[in-house]
Amino acid sequence: MLTVLDAIKLSSDYMEKKGVESPRLNSELFLSNILNCKRLELYLNFERPLTTAETDTLRSYISRRGKFEPLQYILGSVEFYGLEFAVNPSVLIPRQETEILIDTVIVKLGKEFAGSILDIGTGSGIIPVTLAVKLPNATFTALDISEDAIKTAKLNAEQNAVSDKICFINDDIFNKKLDFNNKFEAIISNPPYISVEDAQTLQKELLEYEPRTAYCDNSDGYTFYKEIISRAKDYLLPKGKLVFEAGEGQFIKIEEMMKANGFCNVEAIKDYLNIERVIYGELI
Ligand code: GLN
Repeated sequence: MLTVLDAIKLSSDYMEKKGVESPRLNSELFLSNILNCKRLELYLNFERPLTTAETDTLRSYISRRGKFEPLQYILGSVEFYGLEFAVNPSVLIPRQETEILIDTVIVKLGKEFAGSILDIGTGSGIIPVTLAVKLPNATFTALDISEDAIKTAKLNAEQNAVSDKICFINDDIFNKKLDFNNKFEAIISNPPYISVEDAQTLQKELLEYEPRTAYCDNSDGYTFYKEIISRAKDYLLPKGKLVFEAGEGQFIKIEEMMKANGFCNVEAIKDYLNIERVIYGELI
């Protein structure tokens, strides 16, 4: 019978041989999920024997991870901004950088903000769900072209008790007939911004498992910015705000497009790697 410590060692060795990054961390996260305890609690239970069922589950997890399936899809959930979100291969896995987008919106709109916000390409719904928790007076419309993503986002809204604040719409931002019935104080988007060229250099986990339409625009990386910026005036109220997440080196071009389309006070907020990650602007 395997003990917790044996299982950590064996599964780390297996994943290391397969070339998985941080194999020890991965095996500890799997075990803490299987044993339903905190990662550090494993260290107090090294001698605890695993049941056959627990060993079988671990075996299936590490075999999937060995094929580079992302840990988050295997566990089915991820923490973002201190909240818990369900994820599956129909949605992009939330990235830490997106927390900067959330921080920017909270700072710019203020905690008392009571207007309505549109999130374009909501995916797992992390943006409206997190903001609905942090800005309790705001209301949200969340759009995504993928029906499965919308299902996941709805589930995440329920799990975080904010379903009544968010209206979900399964439609395409490129649909010229798209009509929201109302205008918004702010539009937010973390659109697919990786160009076809850059998509070739991505990690295996992303390339083989995450939904390509969520991260790559099959063009130069600017398709969604162009579309959203050129139509923003139709959807925003006067002085409306536009907040994007963007990729490395994209700020200058996006700033130019925003200024050419009636936005002012355009600025970039940098991430931990000093990359201009979030772009903010206001309609004149
Ligand atoms: N809005 C979601 C996120 O920030 C999904 C983004 C996307 O799929 N491009 O993670």
